[in-house]
Amino acid sequence: MSKKKLIAGNWKMNGSVAANDALVRAVIAGMGAADDCTVAVCVPAPYLAQLQMLRAGSALELGAQDVSAQEQGAYTGEVSAAMLKDFGARYALVGHSERRQYHGETDALVADKAKAALAHGITPIVCVGETLAEREAGRTEEVVKRQLAAVIHTNGHCISEIAVAYEPVWAIGTGKTATPQEAQQVHAVLRAQLHAATAHADRVAILYGGSMNAANAASLLAQADIDGGLIGGASLKAPDFLQIIAAARLQRD
Ligand code: PEP
Repeated sequence: MSKKKLIAGNWKMNGSVAANDALVRAVIAGMGAADDCTVAVCVPAPYLAQLQMLRAGSALELGAQDVSAQEQGAYTGEVSAAMLKDFGARYALVGHSERRQYHGETDALVADKAKAALAHGITPIVCVGETLAEREAGRTEEVVKRQLAAVIHTNGHCISEIAVAYEPVWAIGTGKTATPQEAQQVHAVLRAQLHAATAHADRVAILYGGSMNAANAASLLAQADIDGGLIGGASLKAPDFLQIIAAARLQRD
């Protein structure tokens, strides 16, 4: 039996109190106990309190889409790891390509954010991935290894406590997906890099993200080093998200 998959939804900047209520109730009803698959939703910070109530008594885990590298203080607009923990968050995305691209987040900052999350018992889901230009220039491995190396360097022996999401930038929100073989190739590179850093590399969930949907999830999740998915668009529609969860569960049989 393969290890339990992690299916995490990334709502990005979408949602409303009414829409979240309907979506989360449908997901919880459809996923049931989900003891063969870990399911999480990473929601905009203002909705953490709503999700904390909605998920009470269910197996649905809660995540944030970002976390401050700072502990507390004069950092207007930032949300600390301790605050996320207060609302029951188990995960925080760090270094999503949209934050690297639109907010200028560097590898070093992403590594510090991962450290801040870990210090509060939150699993950082460290996002790495190459742009189309980088892939076409044959630089995919170099780019993802550089991004992960910064997090390994800063987090030392805690590195087995992170999760990683390989998200080719050209596949995010575009409907283009890496083939299962292309994704597996990069996941194997990341796994080898983790093995070189820790004796517990097999514990690290390496998720694939980038236009994962109900139709392609099963073949991606069947790959040896693909331990789950980070799902954007399809996580906003309960039936689609539930089909991806079902595909992840089948891998446990
Ligand atoms: C994402 O934003 O992390 C993502 C994978 O988006 P999508 O599934 O919409 O490509």
